[in-house]
Amino acid sequence: MSEIFNIELLGDIAHRDSATAGVSEFAARVRVIYVCDKGHYFGIPLAADVVPPIAWMCRCGHDASRPGFTIPDDKPARTGRTHYEILRERRTEGFLEKLLTQELRKLRTSEKEQSSQAS
Ligand SMILES: [Zn+2]
Repeated sequence: MSEIFNIELLGDIAHRDSATAGVSEFAARVRVIYVCDKGHYFGIPLAADVVPPIAWMCRCGHDASRPGFTIPDDKPARTGRTHYEILRERRTEGFLEKLLTQELRKLRTSEKEQSSQAS
């Protein structure tokens, strides 16, 4: 199946950061169609100049693929790691201790300021 059947051009034009730029910039968008193995059909708006991913997670939690494409078997399996486990993989314990100390200091300073303003 050709890509033309599962990508449709969007009629609307997306605004990109118009508040901070002061001038509206426009980005061409396309809606990429995905279908999950439970039959849910949905479209994801993406910038027209990106290569759409073959798979996208459906709202039901199953992988959805673009019609005519199959999800490769070598796709990394979901590990079911927690946010904390992912954080531990990306940051050292020393960094996390320093961050905790810094945030606790901010919190205590904030609490002292609030109690001095209340009295
Ligand atoms: Zn689904």
